[in-house]
Amino acid sequence: MTQAHILGFPRIGAQRELKTALEAHWQGRLDETGLRAVGAQLRREHWQQQRDAGLDLVCVGDFAWYDHLHNATALFSAAPTRFGLPRSIDLAGYFAMARGTEAQPALAMKKWFDTNYHYLQPEVDESTRFALNRDWLLPEVREALSLGHAVKVVLPGPLTWLWLASAPTAFDKLSLLSLLLNPYFVLLAELNALGVASVQFDEPILALDLPDAWLDAYRSVYRELAPVAPPILLATLFGSVAEHAARLSELPIAGLHLDLVRGPDQLDALLDHWPAQRVLSLGVVDGRNLWRCDLRAALATLRRAAQRHPLDRLWIGSSCSLLHVPHDLRQEQELAPELRDWMAFATQKLDEVATLRRGLIHGDAAIADALNDTDRALDQRRRAATTHCAEVRERCARSGERRAGRASAFAQRAAKQRAALNLPLLPTTTIGSFPQTAPIRAARAAYRQQRIDRAAYEATMQHAIRDAIERQHALGLDVLVHGEAERNDMVEYFGEQLSGFALTAHGWVQSYGSRCVKPPVIYGDVSRPAPMTLQWTRYAQSLTDKPLKGMLTGPITMLCWSFVRDDVPRHEVALQLALALRDEVQDLEQAGIGIIQIDEPAIREGLPLKQADRAAYLDWAVHAFRLTSCGVDDATQIHTHMCYSEFRDILPAIAALDADVITIETSRSRMALLDAFAEFAYPNDIGPGLYDIHSPRLPSPDELHALLRRALDVIPAERLWVNPDCGLKTRAWPETEAALQRMVSIAAQWRRQL
Ligand code: GLN
Ligand code: ZN
Repeated sequence: MTQAHILGFPRIGAQRELKTALEAHWQGRLDETGLRAVGAQLRREHWQQQRDAGLDLVCVGDFAWYDHLHNATALFSAAPTRFGLPRSIDLAGYFAMARGTEAQPALAMKKWFDTNYHYLQPEVDESTRFALNRDWLLPEVREALSLGHAVKVVLPGPLTWLWLASAPTAFDKLSLLSLLLNPYFVLLAELNALGVASVQFDEPILALDLPDAWLDAYRSVYRELAPVAPPILLATLFGSVAEHAARLSELPIAGLHLDLVRGPDQLDALLDHWPAQRVLSLGVVDGRNLWRCDLRAALATLRRAAQRHPLDRLWIGSSCSLLHVPHDLRQEQELAPELRDWMAFATQKLDEVATLRRGLIHGDAAIADALNDTDRALDQRRRAATTHCAEVRERCARSGERRAGRASAFAQRAAKQRAALNLPLLPTTTIGSFPQTAPIRAARAAYRQQRIDRAAYEATMQHAIRDAIERQHALGLDVLVHGEAERNDMVEYFGEQLSGFALTAHGWVQSYGSRCVKPPVIYGDVSRPAPMTLQWTRYAQSLTDKPLKGMLTGPITMLCWSFVRDDVPRHEVALQLALALRDEVQDLEQAGIGIIQIDEPAIREGLPLKQADRAAYLDWAVHAFRLTSCGVDDATQIHTHMCYSEFRDILPAIAALDADVITIETSRSRMALLDAFAEFAYPNDIGPGLYDIHSPRLPSPDELHALLRRALDVIPAERLWVNPDCGLKTRAWPETEAALQRMVSIAAQWRRQL
């Protein structure tokens, strides 16, 4: 029978119940029994939702207390020895690895492929050994079975788990593979005995450029596991696996899942190879975005497949886990009804999958109402005046062709900026935000809830700005910032003010652990009805004679951290964002702001998974940044800031941004990244982050000294800036001032010696 399924459901809960419970547990307000009860309740509800929607299978194993990859680490008892945990990991040990302990930093957190979800990176070395710890899965499987569900167990594939693990450089991780298969083997046999209908192995690494040794390993892995396991569905996601079609067809697996949203073109290649007696699961409902599925288009794809593959061997699914979309659209009562009508959150996507199955089996007439309703909504979306702005389109067409660039080369600009800004050697600055104190947050909330008026709100923000300026004066910083008191979030703040953006009230998606983000939605052409930062920036500049740095979020970060429309190419949306932000840059310059920072922390994470697609992305991403920043006078200094990731592999593109100053996160890597910049002969000014703002820990003067000395070894003093490694909004003032004080005085000491 044709089956309808999803690859996973959001675990955090419609009301973010899991977040609340986790934080209560960590603060000692909720004991383990209480926490477990919340988890069990959420799982029960989510399984029931899948069943009520008419799906044939419910997912088990997609729930996690912090992260699903970390669950596999616990399931296979693969804790790194540095945590000193007993062999069998319990909940406390699981959280110790996730959050760190007094003695040990947490496991590294990494981006899950090209999503904004973070996984906890396993650590392996030659001494790593594995053992099955049933507690981490089997009770949940029994829970679901006892509720009468048909269960599909979801697990990270062994190769994906191993590929994502960190290891000492000289060590070949594949040498651990046969050891890792042992607990899988035992587990699968037990799942089979329990009567599990299917096991879904998530193998997203198949969408990367994998070395041959890893590709070859698929054969041995699935040959070994398949004989004892329930029917295995190998799930590929986040991209096409067309080039592996022949290889995948040789695996002894019962089924293969394809992400047809990200890789629509792979279907034919797979239909050519995939054996007719085996299941082909077609992911046609987008698990990465919140737009309503075009049911007719999806049905056309399914029917095309059904012409070449037996209908009863076709499954219909979400493209990937629904982890990446918010829970339930019905909560969005404040969203414009027109817009809401174009969307589907996880709960609605369950219905879409089930509807498509009915349509495929019984024909259009069986789903006439759903088809009509979708047609109406999609037609309205296509014709909506709110999504198309002729002026924006024309402006994009005009500016798309020409290469944006500054009027003069960096050396000439630098000379003019030196004259205009009159900064000392090793200028000190910060990355933008200052502590978001309780009064600031209270005022923002009160204003949003209309408990205070605009004047009262502005007074509080101005007070915060004045306070930040005074403190920066007292510290002796050279380039000041206004502190971003008015910003709840660096993307949302601009999303609230740009046309073409909408904000949801409950559109939360898990970022990591208990942390959720609420990305804005780009649904229409983007433009800037009015200046967005001018008022605050100008006010801040009026309070000081020192240069004040204006603060913007760049076009690529706006794009990467939003839900983006799917009816216009991403590069086109980036261009629209760039032009809107360009106007803001120019307004700031006009208002006498001599330094403007355009943050692009997300530029690296927007990088496509496959090497072959990267040059094109970098090309339009760089163009968007340059379009944003390059309309200014030589004497106006453009800064950019990036953190979170490794830029080694994209340094040419970073240099091509041609920002006058780049501040980067280097403190946690002890400046290793700076070496890459030096080796590459990065030409413009650099501000390597001198200390880690993510921890309340005060950096010692010796440490700061050593790091600055290290930086001076590789970057000429004339091109070096002194700053922390990111914004300070999550810190409190006392630790912020203490750390900055040390930073400023170390810079002064070095300045005297140079
Ligand atoms: N200007 C922002 C801040 O200081 C930058 C944040 C970021 O890089 N993520 O908060
Ligand atoms: Zn940062």
